[in-house]
Amino acid sequence: MEHSRASMLRLIPRVGDTLTTNRRRAILTFVADTSPGIHDTLIAACDIHRYRQLGAVGHHDNCTHNLAHALETVGLSATVTPTPLNLFMNVPVADNGELDFKPPVSEAGQYVALRAEMDLVIVFSACPQDMVPVNDMRPTDAHFLIA
Ligand SMILES: [Zn+2]
Repeated sequence: MEHSRASMLRLIPRVGDTLTTNRRRAILTFVADTSPGIHDTLIAACDIHRYRQLGAVGHHDNCTHNLAHALETVGLSATVTPTPLNLFMNVPVADNGELDFKPPVSEAGQYVALRAEMDLVIVFSACPQDMVPVNDMRPTDAHFLIA
């Protein structure tokens, strides 16, 4: 995401913006967004450490594990979990630089369409975060279509 933000010169991609690799190659272009356009490119994928920090006891599903598991099923692995594109996640940045976790402003049925600019493996995780309001405290399934 840090390379994409530098390329786009904004925190939130808009239709027409292209996400880039750490070698500045185009990965995905936003071709449609029927939501209010509030997404996040700053917040790390949730992980077991984050849930423990928030008070969870024992296992809690998390996006870091979802990524590792998804890659494993196709014989791949990642040495690190990259900063994700958090579609529909509402993390406003205040004028003083402070961040907040707010409920999403998108509604069921709204979508983002992305065009692949290279052959790629893409992993989607329906974030199970239920301890801060980014999923309105009730995570749901996410649906995707590859055309
Ligand atoms: Zn998550």
